[in-house]
Amino acid sequence: MVSNETLHQATQTIQDSLSRIKSDIPQLSGVIDAFQDLLINRAVARSKLPIPDFSDEKVDAMGFSQGKPVLHERKIHVDKDAVKGVSELLLPSMRKGFPKLDPSLSKLELFLKESGSHFDELVLYMESIAMHEPDDLSKILDIPALELQFICFELARPFAENLSDKVSPLVKDLTWLKGYCPVCGSWPAVSFWRGSEGRRFLRCSFCAHEWSYMRTQCPFCENSDNEKREIIFSEDRNFEHAELCHACMKYIVGIDTRNMIAVPDPSAAPLGLIYLDVLAQDRGFQPGAICAWNILEKTEKSL
Ligand SMILES: [Zn+2]
Ligand SMILES: [Zn+2]
Repeated sequence: MVSNETLHQATQTIQDSLSRIKSDIPQLSGVIDAFQDLLINRAVARSKLPIPDFSDEKVDAMGFSQGKPVLHERKIHVDKDAVKGVSELLLPSMRKGFPKLDPSLSKLELFLKESGSHFDELVLYMESIAMHEPDDLSKILDIPALELQFICFELARPFAENLSDKVSPLVKDLTWLKGYCPVCGSWPAVSFWRGSEGRRFLRCSFCAHEWSYMRTQCPFCENSDNEKREIIFSEDRNFEHAELCHACMKYIVGIDTRNMIAVPDPSAAPLGLIYLDVLAQDRGFQPGAICAWNILEKTEKSL
């Protein structure tokens, strides 16, 4: 649990970052408005969850040095008793931002209210980082698979982020050279160049952990051939970019924070880079990470 003051600061920072993106890039206002409540209520949901139990005996240093993320076997832990509270905060935010999801959200709300017999399966799916489309669960709940994946991904994130906060200090001094998250194994959604030397940090698309990674290498396929990597950006916002990899045809968006007066909140920042997602995808590149924005986009296409 965090204090009200800390929570207030966190939500204010998110709010400020989103307002700045809207005034800088008015074309993104619709997307920002859709995600705003969800982002803020994720922070609120996190603050209400019990502090997860995780100690350093659970870190397999040998496995870690060979590229196994800390939560390799266990996945994340979702506290069953807390699922309802998190849902009560986040499902209305999703309804407000994405009205098309309303029928699915209503079905899930009813299911949670009745504590349906398949509740454990829902929790297990959330714990699996909602990596795949939930075919069986989708049939049981009568909710389209992609929509259920988006909803569960978002419901699981407050649990994942809190656990990641607990695990991160335990691995900060260990070497990690991979492009996927050392905590949960998910791919990064965004990178930040920080500090006077512009060291690159990748930010996990799921648990929000950040780790340092070579700037000259694709995180998804480890290609470091400069001929096969390309950076695209818009002239008037040259501190924001997308890195395209011609070897694996994936991309990651990023921000060079070195000369920024106000560095955006990292949870809000990717929304301000969606114009780069569009440019990269128009050129045939795919995002390296599963993220809410991409699942939703697929949902739109399948409607
Ligand atoms: Zn992670
Ligand atoms: Zn690549």
